[in-house]
Amino acid sequence: MERPTHLLIFDLDGTVLDGHGAGHQAMERAFRQVMGQPGEFDHLDFAGRTDPAMLHLAAERLGLTIAEDQWPRLLNAFVTALRETAGATRALPGVAALLRHLASNPQVGLAVGTGNVEAGAAVKLQAAGLSDVFPVGGYGSDGESREAMLAVAVARTRNFYQANDAPLLTVGDTPRDVAAAHALGFRCIAVATGRYGQPNLEAAGADAALPSLEDAAAFYRAVSRLSGRDLSD
Ligand SMILES: [Mg+2]
Repeated sequence: MERPTHLLIFDLDGTVLDGHGAGHQAMERAFRQVMGQPGEFDHLDFAGRTDPAMLHLAAERLGLTIAEDQWPRLLNAFVTALRETAGATRALPGVAALLRHLASNPQVGLAVGTGNVEAGAAVKLQAAGLSDVFPVGGYGSDGESREAMLAVAVARTRNFYQANDAPLLTVGDTPRDVAAAHALGFRCIAVATGRYGQPNLEAAGADAALPSLEDAAAFYRAVSRLSGRDLSD
């Protein structure tokens, strides 16, 4: 394998795909099943949080603690439910074409950095027809905070591509994506295809804020500018 000169770590929900609430529904179902009562998910802010963080928050709001033996059952029930709810998950407009283009570019090493637990990410990527795009990544099952997850994603990505010095950028859709990247010393391209508009993402410190990933040329330009190394298409 040729060593890539640019490493790109993509968030999934709101950035690469739209789950149409599949994760939320699956989480409610799993919580009810394992904890014996409905969780308080309705007004929880899902954006940019990991799955484990969401489950802990929902339990906390009810004054519950998730016992050690409940935790694997909860995650298993969640992934099982997700297989039923994720049917409508789709790649966001332009994203499949962009990712395939990037994947075929030997300059680029693609990875995922998502709050989804690994098995859940696999379900969503498969539903969106993108199972083969990200050969490596970090997941909500690797760390409950976005920073912890991203640190794992970065280490795995550098190791997988044997590219310790290649500039690395993250791509996400929430202020939490931006904050996690900055906490680890990376720049973040934010896309306004989730809950946040470009002005919000800029205010959150995004290093570039794009309306979507539909304009591949704009994405390549942002990567070139932020990495200080030209990425040609
Ligand atoms: Mg997201």
